[in-house]
Amino acid sequence: MKLESSKGNILIVEDEENIAALLQLNLELESYEVSIAKTGFQAVKMAKAEYFDLVILDIMLPEMDGIAVCETIRAQNIEVPILFLSAKGSAADRIEGLRKGGDDYLTKPFNLEELLLRVEKLVAKNKRMQQSNSVGQLYEFAGGKIDFGAYECYDRHGKKQELSKKESALLKLLIERDGETVSREHILQVVWGYNVYPTTRTIDNFILSFRKHFEKDTKHPIYFHSIRGVGYKFTSKEKK
Ligand code: CA
Repeated sequence: MKLESSKGNILIVEDEENIAALLQLNLELESYEVSIAKTGFQAVKMAKAEYFDLVILDIMLPEMDGIAVCETIRAQNIEVPILFLSAKGSAADRIEGLRKGGDDYLTKPFNLEELLLRVEKLVAKNKRMQQSNSVGQLYEFAGGKIDFGAYECYDRHGKKQELSKKESALLKLLIERDGETVSREHILQVVWGYNVYPTTRTIDNFILSFRKHFEKDTKHPIYFHSIRGVGYKFTSKEKK
């Protein structure tokens, strides 16, 4: 039975089928949507391609271990909460997991009630963060204004310009991450979705048109920056 309203999307990374099935069953009973990755490589691929509210990550996995998966996810600026669930239970193991970018650490064998409680807390915290980061429908800067919902903006001369859905989504993403570099992979994932890969040129062209709308000097942009080899950044304030 497909649940009408899911509490969140969870990725379970686990090579032991019994544990994966047990987790899936119990999380689905709690109204979460669950996907399973059996290897580290598969986990990285899925975390890049889809939006998850939480990753439950085993450490001892074939080929690529959970610590490497966590590091790779963080290196790609994917901010999904990560809960390590591992048989490795020493303090040193837990510290390493948390240091490498994990948000929480639970050891096997685990208490189901405790796991579900931690899952609920991490997912709720993530939702709060998402909401506090999100900008409203209207955003004003540089003497211009963007209406994300109507797919239009007023440029720095007050002239109305149409935006495509993708342009609007890219503007929103960059503005929500004001001052941070957003990686190309993350942009592709959020704006284009998975399995559709435009060239870097496409993003560059979007940035060029944003500059035309909002920058006084398009050759020396103040707001829309390309960070070579990494991604793109919006800064609402001029750096002194
Ligand atoms: Ca394992």
